[in-house]
Amino acid sequence: RVWNFSAGPAALPESVLRRAAEEMLDWQGKGLSVMEMSHRSPEYTRIFEKTRDDFRKLLNVPDTHDVLFMQGGAVGMNAIVPMNLLQGFEQAAFVNTGAWSKKTTKEFSKYGLARVVLDNANALANTAAACYVPECASLLDRVNGQQMAYLHYCDNETISGVEFNGQIEALAGQLDCPVVADMSSNILSKTLDVTQYGLIYGGAQKNVGPAGVTIVIIDKALLNRALSICPSAFAFGTVAENGSMYNTPPTYSIYIAGLVFEWLIEKGGVPWAQAQAQEKSALLYDTIDNSDLYNCPVRRQDRSRMNVPFTLADEALNSSFLSKAAEHGLVQLKGHKSVGGMRASIYNAMPLEGVKALVDFMRDFEKTEA
Ligand code: PLP
Repeated sequence: RVWNFSAGPAALPESVLRRAAEEMLDWQGKGLSVMEMSHRSPEYTRIFEKTRDDFRKLLNVPDTHDVLFMQGGAVGMNAIVPMNLLQGFEQAAFVNTGAWSKKTTKEFSKYGLARVVLDNANALANTAAACYVPECASLLDRVNGQQMAYLHYCDNETISGVEFNGQIEALAGQLDCPVVADMSSNILSKTLDVTQYGLIYGGAQKNVGPAGVTIVIIDKALLNRALSICPSAFAFGTVAENGSMYNTPPTYSIYIAGLVFEWLIEKGGVPWAQAQAQEKSALLYDTIDNSDLYNCPVRRQDRSRMNVPFTLADEALNSSFLSKAAEHGLVQLKGHKSVGGMRASIYNAMPLEGVKALVDFMRDFEKTEA
């Protein structure tokens, strides 16, 4: 297998894939695949409940919060969240730090008034001027007393590689509205105080499992604030009441997510993932910072531990960098089309060994080609 640096759908732990392959045709002697089981069967109910309980354990989700397994992806949540939380409100507050948070803000405008309360210079441009987490203390003045339904932000901007480091979590207790966080690309990579969030959501296809399932952690106090137009299948209250089985959930994606959670628990849980992410990203950023060829536009303290964007001083070398990397078994390193350059995504399933292989290649490439 290659070292796969895809931003998502991303590499999964090899042992998980092997186990899924072993169980593909005959799950635990039952003579059928998990894919072929009724979501209401006792076998699948066991798989589902263990998956949900393991996830709760991994993130220490308190009893005040429900965990829902939904569909629609994080982009679907851009509509699902406003439809669920706007009852009695006309507006919500948004922090824009990159392409994903901007997209969320834009979609919200179909449902209510989107108030951008904090922005970095130009959240879409991958320049040093744009790639940072803005100072957050002013949020208290900008949000409190304004009748906001919630404050939304994206904890890790997958495209530009900008990651929060607890700034909003630390302020949440002083805000007069719930915090809603898109954690699609860094969930399960750091410990969280879930009690500080009204809602955390994320598509699965980075640290959780295959695409198709969307995880929602929601404060139970927010379960019944949906607009009447909200489709029942996407109403958090309805989904919660029915244990995520109001309609057929993405059963196979949830099963694989369950195998990923078992793998992560065996490794040492989220603290293990956090330490690993720190070590891997530091190795990669150090290599970039100590070179004349590579550059990372993100301000140091705001650099993502999951998605490492970098450019080559001479753009003419981009295609040979990518093709030589592929010859070394290092794939999916091309940066997002909106920002160019390279991006190495190093989620939980990427071992340190893979990052070492990448930095060895980068150093050799600089020596021989630049
Ligand atoms: N938000 C973030 C931070 C992402 O990285 C992504 C990427 O997949 C999305 C939202 C969109 O998720 P989906 O394609 O599952 O809707």
